[in-house]
Amino acid sequence: MSEAPSSGTPYPYDAPASQALFDRAAAVTPGGVNSPVRAFRAVGGTPRFMVSGTGPYLTDADGREYVDLVCSWGPMILGHSHPEVIAAVQDAVSRGTSFGTPGEGEVALAEEIVARIEPVDQVRLVSSGTEATMSAIRLARGFTQRSKVIKFAGCYHGHVDSLLAAAGSGVATFALPDTPGVTGAQAGDTIVLPYNDLESVHEAFHRYPGEIACVITEASPGNMGVVPPLAGFNEGLKDACRKNGALFISDEVMTGFRTSRAGWYGIDGVKPDLMTFGKVMGGGFPAAAFGGRADVMAHLAPAGPVYQAGTLSGNPVATAAGLAQLRLLDEAAYDKVNEVSETLQSLVTGALTKEGVAHRLQNASNMFSVFFTDREVRNYEDAKRQESFRFNAFFHSMLAQGVYLPPSSFESWFVSTAHDEQAVQRIADALPAAARAAAEATAA
Ligand SMILES: *Cc1c(COP(=O)(O)O)cnc(C)c1O
Repeated sequence: MSEAPSSGTPYPYDAPASQALFDRAAAVTPGGVNSPVRAFRAVGGTPRFMVSGTGPYLTDADGREYVDLVCSWGPMILGHSHPEVIAAVQDAVSRGTSFGTPGEGEVALAEEIVARIEPVDQVRLVSSGTEATMSAIRLARGFTQRSKVIKFAGCYHGHVDSLLAAAGSGVATFALPDTPGVTGAQAGDTIVLPYNDLESVHEAFHRYPGEIACVITEASPGNMGVVPPLAGFNEGLKDACRKNGALFISDEVMTGFRTSRAGWYGIDGVKPDLMTFGKVMGGGFPAAAFGGRADVMAHLAPAGPVYQAGTLSGNPVATAAGLAQLRLLDEAAYDKVNEVSETLQSLVTGALTKEGVAHRLQNASNMFSVFFTDREVRNYEDAKRQESFRFNAFFHSMLAQGVYLPPSSFESWFVSTAHDEQAVQRIADALPAAARAAAEATAA
């Protein structure tokens, strides 16, 4: 359903140029955006239309500058317009934009991924994280000749039909689709279980012997806010899969090449059969991948029978951007991102504590988010118990002061190597008023 966005928001500042663009957009695009969370529905107000980005800053259509803590939802780990990435893109573009043939750039990017991520023997490039998870699931089903898939409530794997079934928190209940347009048949082979609950995984394998093709999980979830796996959870999933002849798929679209040089795998060392990547590996362009065990990947066309293809897969401009970005991401770069993240985490928790706001700051390496609750958040049910109205007040105060946070309390915050002292200081200066706004907020 598309409704006209309201002009004249209840917020104490406005963004007339963004509002005018949003009105134009709403006439030609459902809800005025090309990806729902961008519309600010969770927090209210006018989404900012950005016109440029440099380092840690974004500039909107009204000419206002923001310190960016979204980083395009993760990809911009070197900040915006990094000169070496831009140079690589310009160099690639000057030689043409798409050939529909194999090219060296895609080989070099695949080699870089295989070199970094030990469980990945072979990789197939695609254009989005959604395509990566969709293809990995198809491959797992083709390889095991089984149909059921286990996923966890609150884990997002892109808008794959069968994976948009996140509802139903009962143990081993078949999922009802989360959205109209996904049929019961498409969701019917998906088993949705509570995150961080190994017992329910064992029960599901017991209940459907020989039927489960794979377990897919975010390596460390960042799509219900940041909810890291409890000690032994990923290992337990791997073991349960091995014991039952299923494949273990670790979705590292968000964590890959962000949480460390080798992503979350570089932190917990649990070896999946298949992995999916996106976001950082595209350097701000549409490039993603899935990969893993050579014997499993050998089932993919044209080597094997499981079909998968893409007109723009391995696009020369996208792979040049991704490769340039990955080559710049050495240990020093991760040290820098981690350091900025730690500084911000302590500033945020300090400001909220000073105003007596109950909150939990949770992190997975340099990814972090704030839950407005005093209880630990271990799964989606816990995450939903937070007082989101406090986040919304906090968000709008930060926005008014020139800090761009993810417009939802169920999202990770992202930083980059470009977040320097000046950018951090701007955030520090904005936090006291935002914390006060959170403290004074009342449920609508
Ligand atoms: C973003 C994301 C996806 C989907 O990637 P798109 O490129 O948006 O299709 C899949 N899995 C995870 C864990 C993600 O964070």
